[in-house]
Amino acid sequence: MTYADFQAHIAELNDLLNAISILKWDARTMMPSGGAETRGQQLATLSRLAQEHFISDKTARLLDAAEREVAADEPDSYRLRAVQQTRQYYSISRRLPLDLVSDKAALEPVSEGVWAESKRDNDFKRFAPYLQQQLDLAKRQAEAVGYQEHPFDALVFEYEPSVTAAKLKLIFGDLKAGLLPLLQKIVANDRPLERDLWRHEYPLDKQKAFGLEMAQRFGYDLKRGRLDIAPHPFEISFTRQDVRITTRYDLHYFPQALYGTLHETGHALYEQGVDPALTRTALTIDFLGKYPVGGTSYGAHESQSRLWENQIGRSREFWVNHYDRLRHYFPEQVTEVDPEFLYRAVNRVRPSLIRVEADEVTYNLHIMLRVEIEMGLLEGSLQVKDLPEIWNAKMKEYLGVVPKTDSEGVLQDIHWSGGGFGSFPGYTIGNIMSAQFLNAARRDVSGLNDGLERGDYAPLLGWLQQNIYRHGRAFSASELLQRCTGSDLHVAPYLAYLEQKFSDLYRLS
Ligand code: ZN
Repeated sequence: MTYADFQAHIAELNDLLNAISILKWDARTMMPSGGAETRGQQLATLSRLAQEHFISDKTARLLDAAEREVAADEPDSYRLRAVQQTRQYYSISRRLPLDLVSDKAALEPVSEGVWAESKRDNDFKRFAPYLQQQLDLAKRQAEAVGYQEHPFDALVFEYEPSVTAAKLKLIFGDLKAGLLPLLQKIVANDRPLERDLWRHEYPLDKQKAFGLEMAQRFGYDLKRGRLDIAPHPFEISFTRQDVRITTRYDLHYFPQALYGTLHETGHALYEQGVDPALTRTALTIDFLGKYPVGGTSYGAHESQSRLWENQIGRSREFWVNHYDRLRHYFPEQVTEVDPEFLYRAVNRVRPSLIRVEADEVTYNLHIMLRVEIEMGLLEGSLQVKDLPEIWNAKMKEYLGVVPKTDSEGVLQDIHWSGGGFGSFPGYTIGNIMSAQFLNAARRDVSGLNDGLERGDYAPLLGWLQQNIYRHGRAFSASELLQRCTGSDLHVAPYLAYLEQKFSDLYRLS
């Protein structure tokens, strides 16, 4: 047995996981609702086959052989990294009791269904027992995976292996210290926009065409991609050769579809930029989440969606450069406003109830609130039954607004109903990393700022491809940060970016 045999075995696992993913994409975009039950059976069968394939004794024998063969490789070699990561996740997966895995799988669709109804009916009490079951499973998983300090560490490991509860508390402390005073100043200086651009209708086909044109300017390759509609926008890849995005449309408010498209484009650029040599290897698999992905962690992935959506797509230069194209698609709607107005309109800061609609300044406060609650639930200092009250108190403290119903409060996100404890920090880590990466790119590439001034994104994309995208999952998020910036995750560059952008927008002294 050789490394090539190991690789062939992992390639089959990639094929199974990619087939699962395309069935999921279809279910979320194209499938008639009548197909749900049989699709569930198809997914369950394929998932079981993939799991059996991975935790088999054959994997163990192939790993042993591959380890001997790559032992003398350089520490950064893709082969060595592929073997090391497979070994690490193989032992974790074997530690997870089979009844835990099947209990989780069985609870997920039921719990998500109850959550959707509870949210619709504003009935937290109905959802509470299911949330309790998810919490109990999460605690069991944390014990099985193992941790040193906090059960949260074992859960966040699945999404963001480089952070722990202790590290997150420090990061959140720094962020709050910068964000809360900035938000107060902005709120005090807020004044409504003097024109209402959103009273017009923006035909959906033109919204799609404008969004796709911008995505392609950023570098999204439509020969290896496509854009469809989904109620919750997402990006999904089935190898770097087929990377798809979705968005949703509001007839009056075109920024919803545009920024949904640009956000998912950022994710897609990452996936399309993976080195072709990594296709169907262990470095394009999330072994714990059990899906194929080229990006190295939730946070690293989110750093790219946020960078392209916000730091590029919501920049003044973006609207100066592409204002004419917007007018081209919407000559009757976009009148009596200039690029500066658009820039201000898409960056309005307003403390609000709903995370997915939050602006750049308030977004991370929504995340911190959720992560603090998760940590409290896991350590036992918070109880499920008290969550609506705790949620509302934290909303008041951080954002100064209190939801009138639990539907727009504690019930708003799907994550907990699916057992996704530990996934929220990725959003904030992504925001922080995006500023660190962009600063490094500006430092390394002399023509980068000139390019952005002109709407030429090739210099930026080239740097990101070279330093981040091509490596797939070979390096962890903190290794990528070290290689690109010489330091670990830290919030100062991100806070400086927000301070500068919003002090200018809101004319703060
Ligand atoms: Zn995203």
